Amino acid sequence: ANKAAVTVIGLGPMGQAMAGAYLDAGYEVTVWNRTAARAAALVARGAHRAETVEEALAANELVILSLTDYDAVYAILEPAAGALRGRVLVNLSSDTPERAREAAAWAAGHGAEHLTGGVQTPPSGIGSPESSTFYSGPKEVFEAHEAALKVLTGADYRGTDPGLAALYYQIQMDMFWTAMLSYLHATAVTAANGITAQEFLPYAQSTMASLPNFLAFYAPRIDAGNHEGDVDKLAMGVASVDHVLHTAEGSGVGTTLPAAVLEVFRRGMERGYGGDSFTRLLDVFREG
Ligand code: NDP
Repeated sequence: ANKAAVTVIGLGPMGQAMAGAYLDAGYEVTVWNRTAARAAALVARGAHRAETVEEALAANELVILSLTDYDAVYAILEPAAGALRGRVLVNLSSDTPERAREAAAWAAGHGAEHLTGGVQTPPSGIGSPESSTFYSGPKEVFEAHEAALKVLTGADYRGTDPGLAALYYQIQMDMFWTAMLSYLHATAVTAANGITAQEFLPYAQSTMASLPNFLAFYAPRIDAGNHEGDVDKLAMGVASVDHVLHTAEGSGVGTTLPAAVLEVFRRGMERGYGGDSFTRLLDVFREG
C-alpha cells in the first residue's frame, strides 16, 4: 500500500503545526503557501513544496486548507479550480456558517468534496488527541478521512450541514470573547484598587468555575420555555448590574462593557419582564 499522504495549503502558525504533525505521523506531505519561504523548515523535515496550487491539489486527494478566512481560500483556489475535481477539501479556515455553506456548494460545483472544520486549539495543541476540532459535511467523507484528521486533533463530527462546524466554532468564540472581556474588565477594577491580577486570580477562577452549574440549571428550563422568576428576578439583576457599573465608575474604570450589559437588562425591564428570570433576556436577543 502507498504511504498515507496529504496536502496542506496555508502555512501560517496553524498550517505549519499541521504539516509538522503529519510528518511526525509518517505521512507524505505536500505543502503550498503564498509566501513560499514559510515552507523551508517543513521541506528540511521532508515535506514536498509544490511549485503551484495546481500541483499541490494534484498531489493528493486529501487537501487541508489552513488560511486566514474564506476570502483567502477563494483567492488561492479560484485560479486553480480546474484541479479541484475529486479532491476532498478540509477547510480549517475560520469564517461564518453562511460562508462555509457557500464554499461547500462552490466546491461541489467544481467536483470536490468539502468538510468544514473549526479548530479549537492554538498551534501548540496540534498533534494532541485531547485537542478538538468540529467537523461538518458529508458523513461518509468525514468517516473515510477520520483517521487522517485525527492526526491533527480529536474530531467532533457535528452533522451534514456544512455550516454546523463553523456555527459551533463561532458560538464558542461568542462565549470566549465576552467571558474574557468580563475578566479583563474586573481586572481593571481590581488594578484600580491596588489588587494585582495574581491576587485576584483564585477569585476570578472560582467565579468562572461556578458557571457550569448555572448553565446546567438553566439549559433545561430554557428548552422548556420556563423563565419563571422563582430563583432569580430580572429586577434584581438590573440593580446588581447597576452596582457593578457604578463600582467601575467609582474606580475610574471605563463603563462601556457593564453599560452594554445594563442596556440589555433595561430593555427586558421595559418589556415588563422584571418578575421573570434573567433568562427571559433571550427574547430581547431574539428580537434584536
Ligand atoms: P494566519 O492568519 O496566520 O494564516 C495565514 C495563512 O493564510 C498564511 O498561509 C497566509 O499566507 C494565508 N493567506 C492569508 N490571506 C491570503 C491571501 N489573500 N492569499 C493567499 N494566502 C493568504 O492564521 P493561523 O495560521 O494562525 O490560523 C489559520 C486559521 O486557523 C485561521 O482561520 C484561524 O482563525 C484559525 N485558528 C487559529 C488559531 C490560532 O491559535 N492561531 C486557533 C484556532 C483556529 P502568507 O504566509 O503568504 O501570508
